[in-house]
Amino acid sequence: MDAKQAAGQMPGPDDPGFPAHHAPRCDDLGELDAHLTECRACPRLVAWREEVAEVRRAAFRDQEYWGRPVPGFGPPDASLAVVGLAPAAHGGNRTGRMFTGDDAGDFLFTALHTVGLASRPGSVHAGDGLTLRGVRLTSPVHCAPPANLPTPEERATCRAWLSAELDLLGPGLRAVVVLGGFGWQALLPVLAEAGWRVPRPRPAFGHGAHVVLPATDHGRELHLLGSYHPSRRNTYTGRLTMPMLVEVLREAAALGGLPAS
Ligand code: SF4
Repeated sequence: MDAKQAAGQMPGPDDPGFPAHHAPRCDDLGELDAHLTECRACPRLVAWREEVAEVRRAAFRDQEYWGRPVPGFGPPDASLAVVGLAPAAHGGNRTGRMFTGDDAGDFLFTALHTVGLASRPGSVHAGDGLTLRGVRLTSPVHCAPPANLPTPEERATCRAWLSAELDLLGPGLRAVVVLGGFGWQALLPVLAEAGWRVPRPRPAFGHGAHVVLPATDHGRELHLLGSYHPSRRNTYTGRLTMPMLVEVLREAAALGGLPAS
């Protein structure tokens, strides 16, 4: 805690106002990520992420879990964002990197690699050397929630981080792929806050959905695309196949001006 926080002038990490106060004041993604990883604004999620990190899954018992908010992953000049809902308890909450260390992440990185946006298929841990080209992975909620479901209040509290992240990505951001209907619902208010006009009634989620959102400040429009989430439930049942995800990512890459393979 610094002097201003001690004097009560700035909300500390445990305060629900911490994200809304700090996120818009960050000058770059590095500063944003530094503040984000300190955040303890949602008591239920803080308790859950730390309990999971303490108890651990048997297969990972010898590993030190991250157990903190998981920042976005990818270059600061990305023209494409891929957005889930929240980190997985034994995936991102364990490894500290978005979509890293679980089946869903492996599926996604394999698809990104097929399109030419990831340096390798699959992901192991934050130091595995994996790099992304032109794409940033992030989420509207940055802490792992129980049953993968954050409450509306938690979504609202965390919204400021992603809104600021999209703002810092700047006018170069052209397209967003949302993985799953829950992520879609959580992202729409963030996009409205970050400066795009979201139509009423709100556009419906679906695999292959594609909506163009005009900027409220006459800036660049944003292409919003939907894909089923690469959860084990969807990929094991064939609801989402690799060609289906690759097709959406390839379209998004083209919209983002990224040469895809
Ligand atoms: Fe902070 Fe977001 Fe985690 Fe809540 S979910 S504690 S706002 S980082």
